[in-house]
Parts: sequence; structure tokens; C-alpha cells
Amino acid sequence: MSIQAPRGTYDILPGQSEKWQEIEQKINELCRLYQYKEIRTPVFEHTELFQRGVGDTTDIVQKEMYTFQDRGNRSLTLRPEGTASVVRSFVENKLFGLPDQPVKLFYTGPMFRYERPQAGRMRQFVQFGVEAIGSKDPAIDAEVISLAMELYRSVGLKRLRLVINSLGDTESRLAHKEALVAHFAPRIDEFCSDCQTRLEKNPLRILDCKVDRDHPLMATAPSLADYLNEESQAYFDDVKMYLEELDIDYVVDPNLVRGLDYYNHTAFEIMSDAEGFGAITTLCGGGRYNGLVEDLGGPESPGIGFAMSIERLLLALEMEKVEIGKSQNLEVYVIAMDESAKKQAFSLLKDFRANGISADMDYTGRKLKAQMKSADRKGASYVIVIGETEMASGKAGLKEMATGEQQELLFSEMAETIKNRKTLEE
Ligand code: ATP
Ligand code: MG
Repeated sequence: MSIQAPRGTYDILPGQSEKWQEIEQKINELCRLYQYKEIRTPVFEHTELFQRGVGDTTDIVQKEMYTFQDRGNRSLTLRPEGTASVVRSFVENKLFGLPDQPVKLFYTGPMFRYERPQAGRMRQFVQFGVEAIGSKDPAIDAEVISLAMELYRSVGLKRLRLVINSLGDTESRLAHKEALVAHFAPRIDEFCSDCQTRLEKNPLRILDCKVDRDHPLMATAPSLADYLNEESQAYFDDVKMYLEELDIDYVVDPNLVRGLDYYNHTAFEIMSDAEGFGAITTLCGGGRYNGLVEDLGGPESPGIGFAMSIERLLLALEMEKVEIGKSQNLEVYVIAMDESAKKQAFSLLKDFRANGISADMDYTGRKLKAQMKSADRKGASYVIVIGETEMASGKAGLKEMATGEQQELLFSEMAETIKNRKTLEE
């Protein structure tokens, strides 16, 4: 029996990989404009990092991690998300000591979660994320949100909805927590076992439960919005003011709590309103995590960030029928009629490539007609046929496929000629 890719993983083949490349280019360009610099961290980390950095009560830590014992008996985990690793690195490399704060970082790379695979939910998926660490200016919250929105816009998505909320500071959250416990405790036995644990450990996360979301107590639960203290309210108002300054539309959803334990103040999600999406419409999630750097052993350094998967971005493009990543057509296809012509053709390829012109030939000994067809399939702009006559004269016809026009040229003139034509076109 042949071996298949593991469940929840997949291959990105030519035809698709061009789309990925285009998105990666857009990410690099956008991060340059916003001045976020790339960070690359290991794909696996000590398990404890995620237990502390993502939070013991989250689905990720409780159910989704790929954790293994290495040969030295360490417990390691394939990273399920990026923030914990970035913050670990920020602390370990003392980036808090850099003169320019906040430190603005971005990453792209594979993440691993043991989930039930479906469209937009894979076991290995690629996240693009940014983290701005070392500032609690509400303007940076708006900047981070706008960067995410801008990426979606720049690839051509239109049906986007930004949802924001404030989780408040510690004081506000404590007051809200008490109210939540009072609300759910009397009837907690009607809830799933996860929610029963959450009631003690982190009652806010009950609101994020996918099992019990239709329980009547959910709709009447005390809203965080009513428990924000003055400072938290003012912070939230400033974030909204800066978003308005950037002309970014948003809706406030007081029930948006997000899955991770460490969030406070700003929380946001970007959803797709495109038709055809199944249950999963969230493209991007993010928020503020003041206190996380301290939890992981660093000095006070408030942070904010987001993460989005490229898989869901691609899904949104599909739903909105936006085409990206057209593959570049071949420029020159060289056809050799015999062995000595093949040597000439082979050296011509080198010439073209050295001049920045894409070039290809046949490597399977096909007849002229089959080679012509192949040139056609590859969308070659030019075809050159080299046979006995051409070898004798040192010249061959450079045929432009779009017009059918042919120009006789010395082999040595070909690359230069195409290069000149290309500059004329530009
Ligand atoms: P969900 O509620 O859909 O499980 P989440 O809260 O687990 O999302 P985050 O941990 O906030 O998601 O991750 C941020 C983003 O990463 C999501 O908005 C989504 O774009 C993407 N993402 C998360 N899990 C997966 C996955 N298994 N496959 C593909 N993309 C994913
Ligand atoms: Mg999830």
C-alpha cells in the first residue's frame, strides 16, 4: 500500500504554491511599510512554554498539542501558535533592552494542532502573525489591527468584518469574573464537563464554549462591557478613535472573548462575510496581552498581536472568487533536432538564464511536434528550433509565438535581443 500524507496535512503543489508565494510577498512588503521585522523561532519548544504562555485552561493546551518525549527525555511540543515563542525569544534575547520600543515583529510558519480536520481547520497550518511588544499606547492596537485588515484588502478581499471588544484590565476582569460565577454556579451541572472546570479556573471561557453556546444562561450572562472600569473604558475609546482615524469600520461585540488565557483590553477578530463559508468564518484573531512577558520571566512589557492562517485567507479568496498567483509563463523554449543541436540548445539556455530570461527545453527525447506542443502548454513567448542548417550557419529563427513573426539571429545575439524587446515592452 502506498503511503499518504498524515491526516490533517496536505501538499502545496505547483499551481497552488504560486498563490502562497504571492501572499508571502504581500506580507513582506506590508511589514516593511509598517516596520515590523521578521523573527524565526524553532518549530518545537519546551512543553511548559505553552502551558504557561497559552494557558492551562485553553483547548489548545488541553486537547490539541502535539507533545512528545525526545530521546533525552525532555517533554517537547510542536508549536501550536506563535505568540508564546516570540515572547520567550523576546525575554531570552533581552529585546526589552533595545533602545527602540515597542519591538515590532512578524512571523510566518507552520503551526500544529490535533484537531478534527475540515475546510480551514488543518493539523498543520501556516500562520502569519505580528507582535508589538513594549507599548501600551492604544494607537499601536489600531496599527496592528489595520495591518491585518490591509493584508486582506491588498489580496483583493472585500467581504470583511472587524469585530472588537475590550476585556478590560485585571480589576475589571475580576469584577466580571465574580458576576459570571454568581450567574453560572447555580446551574453549572447543566453545562459540559469543560465548562464545569472553567467555572473554577477561568469562567470567562464559558462564554467561548462551542458545546453550550445555545444554553439560555449564555444569552443572559453578565457582559464585560458593564464591568469595565474608567481606565479600561478610556483605553477602549481611544482604540476606537484611532480606528476611525484610519477609516476602519468595526462592530463591537461584548461577547467576543477569544480562546487564549492571556488576553486583556483589546480583543479582535476579522471575519469573512463571503457566501459559501461553512461554520468557520474567522480569518484572524488577536488581542492585547499585558502581563504575558512578566509571566514568562521578563520585565513589564505590554504587548499586542494577531495571528491568521494562510489557509483561511485562501479559503476566503476562493469564496469571493478572487484569483491570485498566476504562474509566470515561460519566455523561451529551445527545440533541438539532433544531438549536436542539443549541445547548442543547452548552452543557449545558460545564456538566457544568465540574462534573466526564463528558458527550457525537452529532456525526454520527444519529436519536434511533441516539443512544439510542450512549448505551447508552457505558454512560451518565443520558440527557437535548431537543426543541421542552423548548426552550419550559426543562426536560427527566433519565433515570437503571439505574432508568428520570425527573426534570423546569430546564437550569440539571441539573449541580448530578447532582453532589449523586454525593456521596450516595460
Ligand atoms: P477557532 O475558534 O477557529 O479554532 P482559534 O481561536 O483556535 O480559532 P487562534 O488560536 O486565535 O484560533 O488562531 C488564529 C488564527 O489561526 C485563526 O483565526 C485562524 O485563521 C487560524 N487557525 C487556527 N486554527 C487553525 C487550523 N487548525 N487550521 C487552519 N487555520 C487555523
Ligand atoms: Mg481552535
